[in-house]
Amino acid sequence: MTQPVALVTGASRGIGRAVAIELARVGHAVVVNYLQNAQAADEVAAEIAAGGGRAVAVQGDVSLSADRQELIGKTFQHFGRLDLLVNNAGITSLGRADVLEATEESWERVFATNLKGPFFLSQLAARAMIDLVRAGKTQGGKIVNVSSISAYAVSTNRADYCIAKAALVMMTHVFAVRLAEEQIQVFEVCPGVIESDMTVPVKQKYDRLIAEGLSPIRRWGRPEDVAKAVAAIASGAFPFSTGDCLNVDGGFHIRRL
Ligand code: NAP
Repeated sequence: MTQPVALVTGASRGIGRAVAIELARVGHAVVVNYLQNAQAADEVAAEIAAGGGRAVAVQGDVSLSADRQELIGKTFQHFGRLDLLVNNAGITSLGRADVLEATEESWERVFATNLKGPFFLSQLAARAMIDLVRAGKTQGGKIVNVSSISAYAVSTNRADYCIAKAALVMMTHVFAVRLAEEQIQVFEVCPGVIESDMTVPVKQKYDRLIAEGLSPIRRWGRPEDVAKAVAAIASGAFPFSTGDCLNVDGGFHIRRL
């Protein structure tokens, strides 16, 4: 049982799906978490199995405490260990309302899914990883938080999303500092504008902005671009780093004149 095990939240579609498939390709057994799209998650697991890997689809709402417990429990039930947690599941602002019209309902849903879920799932995963290290069963663990350029680039119609992503940056730092002594590294992967179901409603807007030079690399990001960054972290490419951010944004983050 030396194969590393990854738990990827929101892995039925988009970025999480690509991350799960890439992690399997580089040798991980993968827990493919999803919220409601069982068929899509099963297809991801089947694609991994068809490539010779091991994967299982597990339903669970990261915003719910009982579901987070069960996610970790089922990871151990199926694969007996946990080496990597990828906090990827996320939702955008409900209705994309202007900040002056933003609702508490959207705030609560976005914060529960995009911040509270990753925080408490990281806590559970870290405790489990610490136990494994102390028992001599693993040498360490990793946590990757999928943030966004929205952590620092304002959208006035997605205030809750932007603020939750900004908080995720600090969350990465807090866990990185606390878990360094436990042999657990914590990273942020910061995607730019990525083709997925989440960005379908704003496709025309971003087609135009990208053509006008929104990012120095003038194309949409692909889920596979993000997956490659996560896989590099998972593969141990950064042994003396923690708390770092890998931008996967075509250079969007560089200020220009
Ligand atoms: P997506 O295509 O909308 O997929 C969202 C995934 O999250 C699905 O697998 C969905 O499961 C799952 N999910 C949603 N709520 C969940 C919950 N409460 N518990 C468990 N799983 C849940 O989104 P995406 O574009 O791939 O985004 C993935 C992450 O990247 C998000 O954190 C997002 O904020 C971030 N991001 C995206 C972009 C972009 O341009 N797309 C840019 C920067 C950052 P079901 O299939 O079951 O619904």
